[in-house]
This record gives sequence, structure tokens and C-alpha cells, in this order.
Amino acid sequence: MRKLLLILVLIGILLVSGCVEQTNKLSSEKENKGVIKGEIQKDVQLSCPDSCDDEDRCTMDYCFEYTNFQCRHDDIIPCCGNNVCEEDIISCFDDCKDNGGDYNYISENNVVVIYNKKFSEEVAKDYLQDTLICIPYLKDKLKIDLPEPLKTRFMFILKLIDIEHPFSFATSTGITNLANMKSYENRLKKDDYFKEKIKEGVCLNLHEMTHVFVSMTPIPQWANEGLATYSELEFQENILEIECRERGWYGLDFYGEYKEHPYSNLSMPRKQYGEPGIHWYYTGYCFWGYIKEKYGEDTVIKIVQELKENENNYSADFFKDIVNKVLNEDITKITKERFGVPMKE
Ligand SMILES: [Zn+2]
Repeated sequence: MRKLLLILVLIGILLVSGCVEQTNKLSSEKENKGVIKGEIQKDVQLSCPDSCDDEDRCTMDYCFEYTNFQCRHDDIIPCCGNNVCEEDIISCFDDCKDNGGDYNYISENNVVVIYNKKFSEEVAKDYLQDTLICIPYLKDKLKIDLPEPLKTRFMFILKLIDIEHPFSFATSTGITNLANMKSYENRLKKDDYFKEKIKEGVCLNLHEMTHVFVSMTPIPQWANEGLATYSELEFQENILEIECRERGWYGLDFYGEYKEHPYSNLSMPRKQYGEPGIHWYYTGYCFWGYIKEKYGEDTVIKIVQELKENENNYSADFFKDIVNKVLNEDITKITKERFGVPMKE
């Protein structure tokens, strides 16, 4: 009996010491894991710091259990802003401006013109001057400012590209102009005209510039093209006039004739049913023309300002949250009948 008791006690001691040994092993393992960068940490941290942000946008900052609750900062490659030109001057101006490849650039104030080396600097200068004229001009006309990032840097990109129909478009960084060699040569022939207008302080790029000003607002495409056309027709002396009538617009059409055309259906993309794109634009213009006619020019600007108030709020409904709110009236019955928008109420 006494022998049995002794055996039980011995087993008990063995079990306990086994446990003790295991505990020691575990804690020493933890300590080894806790050794970071040759430093022995006495108290092992069991949670991540509140933030691992190193304020370097070219590193990915993270922390979790497998990093032993330590912050890690891994390089992001490629990254614009690391002083290494990994892409090109168009996608990363800061890193690539001194090594632009096919491109040169000129700049003044917040405007940078990046142009293909096959184009002359003279032409780039025209675009630079025109952009510098257009920004304050439209700021004054639309009574809104440029979207935030463009106040610091507005990029005008002149690309040479082998396309049949050259065109321009507004982007979140500025304006891109896609030209082919032929359109560039045609542009060169008209350089005297451009220079003359710039000297007079006339903004030649009202259309695209208008798009830029409202580029981060919840404006539908038809209203955007309509507004850009409104800028072209209303904000400068223009020989071209479009009269917005009840059933359609009257003016010089795509085919060179003065006549009345029924309004396009703005709920459909342009060039539907083989209709010239410009007719769709004129219909969009007449939406704004209707506002101007019925509520006054100031109300057009108030709607533009309300759009600006909703910058980055893409869930806002153009009619419900912007137009009707400003007018204090629901006009969707009329716009639906006349222009086909909104598609549904
Ligand atoms: Zn446009």
C-alpha cells in the first residue's frame, strides 16, 4: 500500500515536472520569436500598433499575428513617387519628367503640357497659354473652382497616335488630346489664328474645360455634354446659335442646313439610329437652355454649384438631389417628355 502511494506520488511529480518543462519550452520559443532586428524584447507585444502608416505611399504597411505584431513596410513596385521612373511621363510625371522618352514638357503655374517630341514646342506653348486663359475664365463663368487635385497640377497631354478621327477628352488629371500627324499639320496651318485668339485672351477650349470643372460631380453624361455645349454657345461670341423650341432645336445642323430637328432621346447613348452626334449635344444644350429660359441664367449656375457641392457623391440623383432641389420644383415630367430623361421616375 505504502509502495503504491509512493509510485503515485512519483508519477505525480513526473507529470508536474513534465508540465513545467513544457511551459519553459513554450515561453522560450515565444522569446525567440520576440527577437526582432537583434533586439531582445522582454515583454512580447501581443497586439499591433494603432497605425503602421509610414506616410510613404510607395510602401505597403501592415501588421498582424504572423509579423509578430510588428509593423512591416514592403515596397510597392512600380510606384509613382519613389523617384524611380518605372512607367512613363504621362502616368508618372514626377518620377519621369527628366526622362520623358518620346515626350517633352513645358509648364507654368499649375499647368503642365506634356507633348510628343514630334510636335513643336510652339504648339505646346499655345495649349499652355490657352489653358491658362481658360481656367480663370470658366471659374468666373461657372462660379465654381477646379477639382482639388487639378488646382495643384493640371495636365494637358498632347499625344501622337495613329487614329482616324483625332479627339480630345477630359480626365481626372486634365485634358488629353489625341492627334495624328495629319491633324497636327492642319493645326500648324491655323497657328496664326490660335496665336491671335490667345493674344485677345479668348478661351479656345471651353468644351473640354467645362468637362474638367464638373469631372468629379454626379452629372450624367448627357447633361455633361449639354453643359459643355452650353459653355461653347453661351460664354463667348459665337456665330453659331441654336434655338431651343418646344418640339426640337433650330439651327445649323450637321449637314450644313438651317432647320428644326426633333430632340434626341437623351436616355439613349449618342449616335443612336444613325443620328449625328452633334444633334444629341444640341439636345443636351437645350436642357440647360430650357432652365435658362424659364428660371434665368443664374439658376443654371446654381445647379452647377449644387453639383459641385455633391463632388464625389456619385450616389446623388441628378434630378431629385440636384435639379429639383435648386428649382424647388419637380420638372421631370417636362424633361421626360422633351428629352427622354430621366429614363424612369
Ligand atoms: Zn464633350
